[in-house]
Amino acid sequence: MKDNIFTKIINNEYPAEILYKNKYVTAFRDINPKAPIHIIIVTNDVIRTVNDIKEQHATMLGHLFIASAKIAKKEKINHAGYRLIVNCNKDGGQEIYHLHMHLLGGKNLGCIL
Ligand code: AMP
Repeated sequence: MKDNIFTKIINNEYPAEILYKNKYVTAFRDINPKAPIHIIIVTNDVIRTVNDIKEQHATMLGHLFIASAKIAKKEKINHAGYRLIVNCNKDGGQEIYHLHMHLLGGKNLGCIL
């Protein structure tokens, strides 16, 4: 299967501003930010969508949240707040089929629900 762009970023085969990396996840700034702070946190192993999550992925998925909290603190938006989003498939607005979380902040994002 052809590597997606996020796999290339994880493997240092494509440039990105990497902010955080451990055994489970990698985080970098979104190339087309929708807020003053917009960071992508992606699983190091490819899971295509939320629909493909299995029990065995639990630790790796937990690290999406652990990384989010650490990065929010580093970016100094932990107290003001931020939003975490995971898109799934076409109606969810997913463009890249490699599970990732969007961390958005740096302004009041308002209510969407
Ligand atoms: P999604 O619609 O949830 O699949 O989100 C994909 C996100 O990846 C979008 O916000 C894009 O702006 C972002 N993106 C695409 N290519 C890159 C890249 N090379 N570096 C950083 N972010 C990217």
